[in-house]
Amino acid sequence: MDLTGSVIRNIAFPLMEKVKGNHIRKNLRELRDSQSISRDELKKLQKDRLRQLLQHSVTHVPAYREFASLMPLIEQDPLLALARFPVLSKDAFREDTEKYFSETADRSQCILNRTGGSTGKPLTFYMDRHTVEYYEAARYRGLSWSNIRIGDPCVMIWGSPIELSQQAQRKQRMKERLLKNRIVIPAFNLRKEQLLEYVKTIESFRPVYIYGWATALALFASFMLEKNIKLSIPLKAVVNTAETLYPHQRELIEQAFSCPVINEYGARDGGIIGYECSHGHLHVSMENAVYEVVDIKTLQPVEPGQKGLILVTDLHNYVMPRLRYQLGDVVAMASEPASCGLTLPVLESIEGRENDTFLALDGSFINGQFFTNVARTLSSIKQFQVVQQTPNEVVLRLVNHEGLKQEDIEAFKMGIINRMGEVMIHVECVNEIAPADSGKVRAAIRNFALQR
Ligand SMILES: [Zn+2]
Repeated sequence: MDLTGSVIRNIAFPLMEKVKGNHIRKNLRELRDSQSISRDELKKLQKDRLRQLLQHSVTHVPAYREFASLMPLIEQDPLLALARFPVLSKDAFREDTEKYFSETADRSQCILNRTGGSTGKPLTFYMDRHTVEYYEAARYRGLSWSNIRIGDPCVMIWGSPIELSQQAQRKQRMKERLLKNRIVIPAFNLRKEQLLEYVKTIESFRPVYIYGWATALALFASFMLEKNIKLSIPLKAVVNTAETLYPHQRELIEQAFSCPVINEYGARDGGIIGYECSHGHLHVSMENAVYEVVDIKTLQPVEPGQKGLILVTDLHNYVMPRLRYQLGDVVAMASEPASCGLTLPVLESIEGRENDTFLALDGSFINGQFFTNVARTLSSIKQFQVVQQTPNEVVLRLVNHEGLKQEDIEAFKMGIINRMGEVMIHVECVNEIAPADSGKVRAAIRNFALQR
């Protein structure tokens, strides 16, 4: 029997909630109840929340005060009213972040968050605890579709929190172990020679599931298949997050770990947007947010089945509301309702979340996400792109602006060298970074084939 899991689930987690006044389990029950009510009931629930949020926004948020005349429409049909608000691009939000702060927010209680930006443009914003608790609940609901519960042991193939001090890291590890029952295998540092060690770590921890980025999971899986190693413990699922999972990667991971791979679609600045059920549908958390899909050029709504930009309006964040926030991903909503019993809408495709894997001088592989994490700690970096031209040559492209600090550039270079080894780094300060064919600027690009 998994003793730690049940101790966490029944004692440690409830105790933590009581002490901190958290409501993750209550929210989870609420979300589990609403996942199969009729679509009309779901829509009503969403509309009621949206009405309140919009009323709050035009009354208390400086950026939205000019839309106060929409009040009657907000009362009558909040979804229609929402469409009258402008699409909020990351650039516009970054320029004027302060204006999105609600006057009613207790700033001492707000949670600061910063994205590294998968597109290489870091961003800072605030949330309240309430919002984070709904994100967590949405994640646990998604996991529950694979029979995974709060407290179930998990191995993360993940980046280590490099911005934390040694002491903070120890504290973080304790918290991970005691409350979340998780351990981390560093994804920034995967080495084929250490595979047996990793496998031993996993087998002695006996996780119920594994969690990580598609590229890191696929790399790990390819090591296992190459060396013909199988885990001796059964897994319920491998969860991919943050990156697009390609069919060949899914195949590789499922083969290596002998269990299904499920997708979590989340973003630091967008919450837990969708989770894959055991029937392979990526269901969106429509109780937590309004998701719109609009045409890339005209920003007008597109029909289900057609691809467009996803706009997110988080329904719980009252301290810094972002209405119709353009996340940067291209998605399509399914036109048919799902047949699995869940009434939550389904996303058919997500594009534009790929990161290249880099090769370090010592032969280890580096997930492209690593550079995003380095940039996250450097406040004057507005936009960046790292390109590995050859195994020992890297271009660091930075968008030039008045506030760009030389010390941040140096720190970025050190971050790269510390991880990759003494590679040659060419810094280019440019006016803009051109997007790839997909329309999305990629933060990490490798320009040569990996020798495996
Ligand atoms: Zn489903």
